[in-house]
Amino acid sequence: MAKIRAIDSLSRSRPTIEGAGVRLKRAFGSADVPRYDPFLLLDDFHSDRPGDYMAGFPWHPHRGIETVTYMISGEVEHGDSMENKGIIQSGEVQWMTAGSGIIHQEMPRRQNGTLWGLQLWVNLPASHKMMGPRYRDIRATDIPECQLDSGGVVKVVAGNYRGCHGPVRDLIGDPEYLDVSLLRAAEFDHPIPKGTKAFAYVLDGEGRFIPGQEKAISAESLLLYGDGDKVSIKAESTGLRFLLISGRPLREPVAWRGPIVMNSEEELDVAFAEYRNGTFIKT
Ligand code: MN
Repeated sequence: MAKIRAIDSLSRSRPTIEGAGVRLKRAFGSADVPRYDPFLLLDDFHSDRPGDYMAGFPWHPHRGIETVTYMISGEVEHGDSMENKGIIQSGEVQWMTAGSGIIHQEMPRRQNGTLWGLQLWVNLPASHKMMGPRYRDIRATDIPECQLDSGGVVKVVAGNYRGCHGPVRDLIGDPEYLDVSLLRAAEFDHPIPKGTKAFAYVLDGEGRFIPGQEKAISAESLLLYGDGDKVSIKAESTGLRFLLISGRPLREPVAWRGPIVMNSEEELDVAFAEYRNGTFIKT
């Protein structure tokens, strides 16, 4: 019989300051390695006050990881040192593979008073840390919305929900990224293969993330699942919106300094020396 995953840990995202002074909430990060392997970090920037975010994330490098930016409301202007430029608009996703290295800036812009976006860092295995950088820019209309019988909708950014396939394919390690909205009291069951890591991050409303969970959990809660075959989630009368993200752990050493994540301190030293002397970009 399929084993329903239990809750391994429950926490809340915490206020932190990043970039040039952006106030955001961090669900998990470097202190949590290797618990979310292959994922490294999840940031939630959500504010009605431009002073919280307008300073943005000016020029900085990345190497050895992917960054996945999902805008729920508002826009982020993106530019890199190879003159790639664009705006990640409301409802859009940028799946960026930094690989051997990019130097970019990410500058939020206000829209309708609220800026709300999430950035996930996905680690790359040693075999792919120095791959050529690439971008996947996903328009809102390219993200399939799969209707639930019990009432709700699943947006599939990557992976597969009941035959709805996400537009981001051929990823290293095949992570799955779902944005699930449930109407009041709706239920959501989803298989997640044994051996993969899975977590949920609540965006809105309240719900129970295992059958019979004593207390419903609410927005800005992060829930790491234990191993098993599937998850079983139920919305409260408020409805419920959450991200459900899973992927195969890499089980490799993690050496992390700022925006660069490699396997060893030596590789970090090389990366920062290259950044200083202008040889960081390889393509
Ligand atoms: Mn960045």
